[in-house]
Amino acid sequence: MTSSSPERIVVAGGGLAGLRTVEELRSLGYAGAITLIGAENRPPYDRPPLSKQLMTGEVDDTTLRAELDSLGAAFRLGERAEQVGDGVLRTDRGEYPFDRLVIATGARPVALPGPGRQRFLRTIDDALALRDTLVPGARLVIVGAGWIGAELATAAAASGCRVSVVEASSAPLTGAIGAEVGAVTGPWYAEAGVELLLGQPVESVEEGGLALAGGGWLAADEIVTAVGVRPEVGWLESSPLRLENGVAVDEQLRSSVPGVYAVGDCAAFWSARFGRRMRTEHWDTALRAPAVLAANLAGGSERYDPVPYFWSEQFGRMLQYVGDHRGADRLVWRGDTASDRWAACWLAGERLTAVLTVGLPRDVQQGRRLIESAVPVDVGKVADPAVPLREAVLAG
Ligand SMILES: Cc1cc2nc3c(=O)[nH]c(=O)nc-3n(C[C@H](O)[C@H](O)[C@H](O)COP(=O)(O)OP(=O)(O)OC[C@H]3O[C@@H](n4cnc5c(N)ncnc54)[C@H](O)[C@@H]3O)c2cc1C
Repeated sequence: MTSSSPERIVVAGGGLAGLRTVEELRSLGYAGAITLIGAENRPPYDRPPLSKQLMTGEVDDTTLRAELDSLGAAFRLGERAEQVGDGVLRTDRGEYPFDRLVIATGARPVALPGPGRQRFLRTIDDALALRDTLVPGARLVIVGAGWIGAELATAAAASGCRVSVVEASSAPLTGAIGAEVGAVTGPWYAEAGVELLLGQPVESVEEGGLALAGGGWLAADEIVTAVGVRPEVGWLESSPLRLENGVAVDEQLRSSVPGVYAVGDCAAFWSARFGRRMRTEHWDTALRAPAVLAANLAGGSERYDPVPYFWSEQFGRMLQYVGDHRGADRLVWRGDTASDRWAACWLAGERLTAVLTVGLPRDVQQGRRLIESAVPVDVGKVADPAVPLREAVLAG
């Protein structure tokens, strides 16, 4: 720790990214005052199990760290940050002067129009209340065949619910991995006894069901809206911080206002690797970026430039995605998509930019290294599942 270390660090947001920031600061030896302000009235907890092990009843609690006292920080839980002033964070209960401020307020689900009751799956309270409704025979309608919709459909079908998933696009997961690859997951729904309605926009949520665009009606006992999230930055709109689909931060996670940083789902960081601003909604980002952030809060100048990583467990399969396929010009299949083990590889020219795997964890690790090193690859070898991905490097 340098002699110029800040005396007071305030963290807004008590999710994984906020907690990890506090942990990393202390593990670096930062001895100053830390205050964490979290809107939820409970200690930080993990979200990925909410749509998986918690929804199927394997676990009831996903608290991340039982012992918060050992961190020597003030945890102000059940308190909401409302405004950033000049060196001061204002909340619904008070004011917190800071030398450095970290914004880690995550994301919130998008709601659909209409007067009917729609549930969401973002918080542990959402998840526990939703789990209680998953009883045999209940008609559950999920709007959105994204990651969360697919995972919830898996758990609900296993509980004996009658599940329908309504999706506006022509394939599941279109926003995340594109319609061509997403379409391969379509048959998994029917295999699990889940009805999948594609190309069907929803007009509004009404009492007892959904009004569909085009005049249709879909009856439901419970409706869950899972059409994506938006960064939780509305409370910053009157602040001088530059917002660009989240808090715009540079490679060192610094915002446009000196001394203010952002991390996790709410941060749109500049990636030198991909040459664009990125905002991920990935657990791995919330886990790892705080190490870089803490070093910078303490006076360092480290860069955060990851190869993004995400996983999903759905319909008895493990999906893993590494990289970013948005700049790719070619999609290469690896293995038989009708089997339980295959991969989709995206390339820009001769370089691998992203890999999605189903049941092939080794391809994820090897693919990540190829993306990191940006070496040219042999497309024929990439397409051949008998050749380990790491051996696809072009000779010469
Ligand atoms: C059901 C579910 C399943 C998921 N599954 C996966 C998965 O399989 N793989 C994967 O990679 N990722 C998954 N994710 C995504 C992953 O959980 C997130 O990327 C991660 O939680 C982001 O952490 P965060 O700390 O940035 O934000 P959050 O976890 O959203 O935490 C932000 C916290 O800040 C609080 N807050 C908001 N506004 C304020 C305010 N004004 N003042 C104070 N506090 C505030 C919020 O209440 C929240 O507690 C899943 C997410 C969900 C919801």
